[in-house]
Amino acid sequence: MTRVETIVVGGGAMGAATAWQLARRGRDVALLERFAPGHTMGASHGASRNFNVAYSDPAYVRMLVEALPRWRELEAESGASLLDLVGVANHGPGGAFDEVHAALAAAGIAAEFLPVEEAGERWPGIRFDHRVLFNEAAGRVNADATIAALHATAAAFGADVRHRTRATRIDVVDDERVRVASVTDDGEEEVFEARTAVVTLGGWTMKLLDGVAGVRLPRLVVTQEQPAHFGVRDAAMAWPSFNHFPGDAEAAYGYWRSPVYGMLTPGEGVKAGWHGVGPVVDPDMRDFTPVPEQLAALQRYARDWLPGVDADAVAPISCTYTTTPDEHFVLDRIGPVVVGAGFSGHGFKFTPVVGRILADLVDGAGRAPARFAADRAIARHPVSPTGLGR
Ligand SMILES: Cc1cc2nc3c(=O)[nH]c(=O)nc-3n(C[C@H](O)[C@H](O)[C@H](O)COP(=O)(O)OP(=O)(O)OC[C@H]3O[C@@H](n4cnc5c(N)ncnc54)[C@H](O)[C@@H]3O)c2cc1C
Repeated sequence: MTRVETIVVGGGAMGAATAWQLARRGRDVALLERFAPGHTMGASHGASRNFNVAYSDPAYVRMLVEALPRWRELEAESGASLLDLVGVANHGPGGAFDEVHAALAAAGIAAEFLPVEEAGERWPGIRFDHRVLFNEAAGRVNADATIAALHATAAAFGADVRHRTRATRIDVVDDERVRVASVTDDGEEEVFEARTAVVTLGGWTMKLLDGVAGVRLPRLVVTQEQPAHFGVRDAAMAWPSFNHFPGDAEAAYGYWRSPVYGMLTPGEGVKAGWHGVGPVVDPDMRDFTPVPEQLAALQRYARDWLPGVDADAVAPISCTYTTTPDEHFVLDRIGPVVVGAGFSGHGFKFTPVVGRILADLVDGAGRAPARFAADRAIARHPVSPTGLGR
């Protein structure tokens, strides 16, 4: 039996950020990740994620205010460049932009409305037909570089970071003890006993938490999402990150699956994707293959709205969402188990802040906002916190 103060199970964005936060506080922490460094099996791989700040929900706006300095903190400690403030352009008839503008202004986050013509001149690769809400203190983060930076800095602060080590069972012994059984790729078994286990398993969350004493979570639905990179026509063209919200006009938007998010991924093209409409999957039984109709609709979107890309030069991506019924995260503590789950396709921008919140839960430094409670009541008609949800 290996004794450790805290065991973090799952080394994607949220587990790695928690291990980093605990280790830099001098805590005794071990992190178990079942795959090799740089794997592409979960939700945290790839060179780009939107650092979009267009939220109106106060719980997320507060996290956004904390996020920017925490990203810079991680960059300083790791020496890696992770967050690029290229700006985010939110547009389309369907966005709740006035609410967002008001919420951001109240929090001191810059946001301005741009007329269609000005936006079109600044970013000729995108077709705009409605006013644009632009956030300059926003942009994109490099996901792959972030995971590498988090693992490296956590280890540099003394965390025991284990790859190719799969947790097989979680047992709550009492309020202050939890055991985690594990096996390595070489078949070596080990049982850890800890005061706290942080469970950040993404799409695999219920595979290990189902039946664990006292743990009840909102329903988590795992989907296989398929954005794609499109080749750019002119490498010198400037691109913001973007979100595009459809209207009701059947002719213009009938083929859309959801609002669209996107950004330039340096060296790979412009990424664009539907949000949360992929097939429901078992994360261990995926085919990593795009649904042809969804891909064709995304290419049609690129032809209609992204004149700066070649819609036929397309490279699909495969990745998982783990979505709660209200698209709010689960950040909570139940006895000796701290859970970070259900990031619903919009968690990456908050990674260092989620790490801080989960580390605080380990340290007993208060609860996360009620919005993220595991036992929260789910609204009958939940409103998507990003406006991207259906
Ligand atoms: C296509 C796509 C686009 C996205 N775009 C954005 C965006 O633009 N902006 C944004 O903010 N967010 C975005 N997100 C969401 C964001 O990427 C996720 O919220 C975030 O990566 C979730 O991290 P995680 O740590 O919860 O999950 P994961 O990264 O899946 O981590 C879970 C980890 O647990 C490991 N694991 C599983 N089982 C075991 C076991 N038994 N033992 C040990 N380890 C185990 C897995 O290998 C994995 O590494 C996007 C997500 C996808 C899929």
